[in-house]
Amino acid sequence: MTTREIQLTKRLPTPDQDLCNLERTELEAALAARGIARFRARQIFRWVYRRGVTDLGAMSDLPRDLRAMLASDFTLTTPAIAARARSTDGTEKFLLRLGDQTAIESVFIPDTPAMTFCISTQVGCAMACAFCLTGKMGLIRNLTAAEIVGQVRVLANALNLREKTFNIVLMGMGEPLHNYDQTMKALRILADEQGFALPPRRVTLSTVGLLPALERLAKEPIMPNLAISLHAPTDETRGDLVPLNKKYGIAEIIDACKRFPLKKRGRITFEYVLLAGVNDRADDARRLATLLRGVKSKVNLIPLNPAAGIPFERPSDAVIDRFAKILADRGLTVSVRKSRGRDIRAACGQLIVEGQQRSPGQRLASLAFEGAPLP
Ligand code: SAH
Repeated sequence: MTTREIQLTKRLPTPDQDLCNLERTELEAALAARGIARFRARQIFRWVYRRGVTDLGAMSDLPRDLRAMLASDFTLTTPAIAARARSTDGTEKFLLRLGDQTAIESVFIPDTPAMTFCISTQVGCAMACAFCLTGKMGLIRNLTAAEIVGQVRVLANALNLREKTFNIVLMGMGEPLHNYDQTMKALRILADEQGFALPPRRVTLSTVGLLPALERLAKEPIMPNLAISLHAPTDETRGDLVPLNKKYGIAEIIDACKRFPLKKRGRITFEYVLLAGVNDRADDARRLATLLRGVKSKVNLIPLNPAAGIPFERPSDAVIDRFAKILADRGLTVSVRKSRGRDIRAACGQLIVEGQQRSPGQRLASLAFEGAPLP
């Protein structure tokens, strides 16, 4: 190990030194262990999440010695905005730089009808779906809960939306169920009544269907809305598009969905990227309708957002309409996702940060974070 690498690992906080990585009960315990009253955790949560401070020194109602203790024992890390691009349709893409210099993208989508933040859960993604640009990056590392919530803190501050109602979709970079623990922790921190107080019904988790994690999710006290990236009605086609399908096939995923505890009137969204000549035939639509019989579902068709290096094409509008109509005629609720932010490459599957070759130092640094073995 070179001196430079040692310095780099030293400078980065471990996850439990990062104040933003602690749920309020964990922060209370950490404070109690230092002889500090638990209610201070409530104050800190309000400062960080409600008032959006990024500097411990700004927490003016905390005693000076407490602030000094916090500064010596903890860090308050916030992703840095490295670039920001605004689409003609109002969508805004943020490139955020993390403590180890890796980068992620987060997207703000206005009026859908509420404000929506599209948040990443990993740097890159291991799922390698054939039509997704993020999949081309491979997985670089998992995000910590602090980094997942950090995107919300940064976007809410930058857009002045802290006091407003917003939704969150875990549809940025990464597969949320492949970073299960940190994703769920982030949802608990977001839900905290002293912080953003974001109810889980305002969160949608989108997954390719990591079966064991899906079964685990079904038992969680904090339950986001569920979206399944289905993309094909047969294992043959889906296996070509979503490599994980070879491990967890369609029948198993649909079965798990049927068992998933839904609230009254709750439904699972099935996302279906439409690829010309691959999964957009009338027969595919009919099979999809048959597959979803008996599942409380709605279908979200996503016409492909094409990109260089993606070997597929978007079907014509007529084909998209025909597909949607076949589903609707069979009693399914169907929506066609409007592509937002395509001019700034912020649309679905277009999030990619180039040139993230890890230096040895960064590899070491990433050891401070949870590893992410392939499922
Ligand atoms: N890994 C999760 C979260 C990503 S969500 C998942 O797969 O569900 C992003 C959604 O956009 C997914 O449904 C994904 O399949 C879809 N998507 C990926 N690439 C796309 C592209 N090029 N055009 C349209 N949608 C795409």
